[in-house]
Amino acid sequence: MNSAVQRSYSTVIIGGGIAGVALAYFLARNGETGIVVLEANELASGCTQGSLGGVRQQFSTAPEIELAIRGRNFWTTFESDFDYPCTYYQDGYLLVTGKPETLAALELAAQAQRAAGAPDVEIISADRITDVAPWLSPEGLLGGSYTPLDGRFNPTDGLYGLARAAKNLGVKIREHTRVESINQANSGWLVEAGETISADRVVIASGLSAPAMAKPFGVDLDITPLWLHCGYTTAVAVGQPMPLMIDLDSGLIIEREGEGACVTVSDPTFGPHGKNAVMEQFAELASVRAPIFSEVGMRTTTSAAFDATGGDGHAYVGEIEDGLWVFAGFDGHGTMQGPALAQMLANLMAGKKDPVLDVSMFDPRRIPHGKAEWIRAAKN
Ligand SMILES: Cc1cc2nc3c(=O)[nH]c(=O)nc-3n(C[C@H](O)[C@H](O)[C@H](O)COP(=O)(O)OP(=O)(O)OC[C@H]3O[C@@H](n4cnc5c(N)ncnc54)[C@H](O)[C@@H]3O)c2cc1C
Repeated sequence: MNSAVQRSYSTVIIGGGIAGVALAYFLARNGETGIVVLEANELASGCTQGSLGGVRQQFSTAPEIELAIRGRNFWTTFESDFDYPCTYYQDGYLLVTGKPETLAALELAAQAQRAAGAPDVEIISADRITDVAPWLSPEGLLGGSYTPLDGRFNPTDGLYGLARAAKNLGVKIREHTRVESINQANSGWLVEAGETISADRVVIASGLSAPAMAKPFGVDLDITPLWLHCGYTTAVAVGQPMPLMIDLDSGLIIEREGEGACVTVSDPTFGPHGKNAVMEQFAELASVRAPIFSEVGMRTTTSAAFDATGGDGHAYVGEIEDGLWVFAGFDGHGTMQGPALAQMLANLMAGKKDPVLDVSMFDPRRIPHGKAEWIRAAKN
């Protein structure tokens, strides 16, 4: 061991969000030993903490649908598989629009979902929308796309359940350990984190910090913070079904949360200080789309940024130097997709190709041209 090196591991994973912890778990489950997760703050203190935990098959491209199905399978059985409390609320998912071109695109997306093995998608006309969301006003809508098997879970619970399972398999998790630099050594890597740590392999799974960590190696990751300001309401529409609803025309989002709801407006023009503006915009949009919300108060509000990616919208997953890997940038879908991609990556690291997904689409060195996946919770 180099005299400056204080500890050695086979794999150092930087970041204790859903990505890093899920990867640690799947590597350990594949039989690897000597894994450590280094987290600058506490587990789940990054994007994962802010996540709404939405799980949806409603994507438009085959790979994203495949990942969504794997993610949904993972989270629906998580509680029993991991013997850890993390309820999957099967509330369904509803995307609505008043624009003919968006409805036509939703119809094509529904065909893609059926073709990819997710047949439970229904295109519903405006007059049937209240069957699945009685509190929604169909005024001005043409219809929507509804997936009853989709839902939500609490990502912080999920992450802690994964962390417990990883620890049981021998993974070390070190919180309050900030990585300052990653340097290539004669064999393997040296990680500076208040002490010098050597590793055969390093994985950058640090969410929004990943671009700065990959940059010295000539890799430009297009991951930027996109702020969502959420309000948590008092009891509303109690006893009525409340699928996670996104109005694709306005960016209005409503999701069940206990007896109340979590509400927001997704609009890329709002920055970190846009909370009041978002709540005002919510009130205005809801007065038309969901008037019942005019009668409720806000218990609390939160603000958090997610890991928006540019271009094709795919995550960055792969090796950028011999033994240096990237696993970050999930375009706001990381708590759903994270474990599925982590399993794919752990297998790839063990030399096993994914039977369905072509991993080159996640290459961190790619230039993510185009806009392969269009369904986004934002005004269009
Ligand atoms: C408001 C909001 C709503 C969302 N809704 C959904 C949803 O409905 N469904 C869904 O699937 N996804 C959703 N997401 C997205 C999801 O939360 C993210 O895609 C996912 O959590 C990313 O996980 P991660 O592990 O890559 O990043 P993070 O959770 O950010 O974890 C990265 C970790 O790295 C640590 N770190 C950073 N720098 C260092 C360093 N130098 N040294 C050590 N550690 C470091 C950070 O402290 C952090 O804990 C939402 C996100 C937000 C903010």
